[in-house]
Amino acid sequence: MKYPDEISGLIEALSKYQGIGPKTAERLAINTVTKWSNDDIDNFASALVKIKNLKRCKRCGNITNNEICDICASRNNDKIMVIEDVKDLFSIEKCESYDGVYHILDGVINYQAGIMPEDLNLESLIDRAKEAKEIIIATNPSVEGEITAQYIKEMLKDYNCDISRIAYGLPVGGNLEYADALTLAKALEGRRNIK
Ligand SMILES: [Zn+2]
Repeated sequence: MKYPDEISGLIEALSKYQGIGPKTAERLAINTVTKWSNDDIDNFASALVKIKNLKRCKRCGNITNNEICDICASRNNDKIMVIEDVKDLFSIEKCESYDGVYHILDGVINYQAGIMPEDLNLESLIDRAKEAKEIIIATNPSVEGEITAQYIKEMLKDYNCDISRIAYGLPVGGNLEYADALTLAKALEGRRNIK
């Protein structure tokens, strides 16, 4: 017997999430149908509709209600930290030890998985680098994060700005989003020039 169309539709919608396979989507859909009240469903649906108002900052890729995010609008543009995704921005902001702006790549280069440099938000970094004094590369200390850092270093080698790599006190594979405030502050303080 097949699922009713309503459930199949929900499974299909949930499968849109990166990292959620058909089995997990099925489990989540059944959980929603059997455990959620109508209020829960209304709240979820309206939360989802509200995010339609959000945009990506034209300069850095942050999530914002405006064309340019509050960080880009209020801070000096001469120090740019390159990060993998929006989550990292919020982790770093929580630490309150960085006063520059960001550039969000939306991923890292992963040749094996078919994620090429042109799939990332890299091109606009070239324009931004022309006006920056320092580019701090804060991709995670994974193999892909290192490959991406090297790629950026090469890409910007002819520009005047300094390029530094954040000094991780984290083991290889340790992600930025799990680092505590002190570790992040130290990683930033101990960044080394790689150009
Ligand atoms: Zn921005």
